[in-house]
Amino acid sequence: MESILVLTHADETGANLTRSSLETVSAAQQLAASMNATLTVGIVAVDAAAAASAVASASSRILAVSGEAFIHARYATDAAACEALCRAAQATLVLAPSSSRFVRVAAGVAHRLNGVIDTHITSVAGADSVQASRWFYRQRVEAVLSREKRPWFLLLDAGTCAPFAAEPLPASVEQVAVELAVTRTAVTGFRTPAQDAQTIRPDANVLFVAGAGWTKKQPDGQVRAAEAGDLILNFLRKSGASLGSSKSLVDQGGDGQPVLPFLTHMNQIGQTGATPRHAKGLSTCCHGEEPHVVGWRFINERRAISLDPNCGWTRGKADVVYIADAFKVVANLR
Ligand SMILES: Cc1cc2nc3c(=O)[nH]c(=O)nc-3n(C[C@H](O)[C@H](O)[C@H](O)COP(=O)(O)OP(=O)(O)OC[C@H]3O[C@@H](n4cnc5c(N)ncnc54)[C@H](O)[C@@H]3O)c2cc1C
Repeated sequence: MESILVLTHADETGANLTRSSLETVSAAQQLAASMNATLTVGIVAVDAAAAASAVASASSRILAVSGEAFIHARYATDAAACEALCRAAQATLVLAPSSSRFVRVAAGVAHRLNGVIDTHITSVAGADSVQASRWFYRQRVEAVLSREKRPWFLLLDAGTCAPFAAEPLPASVEQVAVELAVTRTAVTGFRTPAQDAQTIRPDANVLFVAGAGWTKKQPDGQVRAAEAGDLILNFLRKSGASLGSSKSLVDQGGDGQPVLPFLTHMNQIGQTGATPRHAKGLSTCCHGEEPHVVGWRFINERRAISLDPNCGWTRGKADVVYIADAFKVVANLR
């Protein structure tokens, strides 16, 4: 019989589990139920009490590695914490979120336990055997993987499962001791860009895509790139949306054409860009060509604003298309 361990860690408050940790708890709970397997939750947090009570109804066994050393992400301490939790749980399957914290250490921990690992998992299912799905070749080919070797580590992509949510219950937590080697890395603090400077927001409800039309000559004969930049940033500030771009728009800098200075290739959506997951997407001044739209595979509800009634969006690629001037529409979105 399989025995499942789900590895989780606290967010920057130190008390609550991260959203992707809770998503992984949901996935692990469903898998355990379908396989009649035992489920253990492992928590890495400075103090695991609050996190444990939030997931107490998911599992009767909760293990934790706690203490000051585990407040911050650091390879040596996180790897030691995960290794200790895995050894204590003696699990055959280890599910963990693809957070920057665990992505860094999971392969090393799998190696220490003489196990195997698969990453970018989007779903796990099983009855007699475990089947994990992931996408290849720019999200075009979905593969279903199964393995004999144990322990098998699976890193789950964010946004692929609803986060675990239940009434907090009193939890009894087994503290797992970790023998830490001398650490050479001291975390002295965080430096992060201001909230409105960070335009890629994977947790946002809405993806706002800017296309090359924003910097092209408009019907009045003018290029209004500066105004376009203000409108887009204002919209992002108010809506909290994540900013995507077409390839044409982010390539323009290199071509010496007008650019939106806050866009980089990291914003590009599509065949040669990203394939983010958001509940809704709004495309603006973008033609909706196939190499761009393949990046919208995981956007559930799609809308577009384009001047061109024959654009790709109107040809079946969006749920709603507004044939309108995006400058006017976005100026009115509050
Ligand atoms: C191998 C390959 C890989 C590629 N990979 C990608 C990729 O990953 N991502 C990607 O995006 N592209 C990719 N492309 C390019 C893609 O085919 C398109 O060229 C690109 O997406 C076009 O960008 P666009 O729609 O922003 O620009 P355009 O085609 O220039 O369209 C601009 C649109 O804006 C509209 N517009 C202008 N002004 C306004 C206004 N005021 N209001 C409303 N609408 C307005 C115009 O009507 C027009 O429809 C790839 C191409 C190839 C060959």
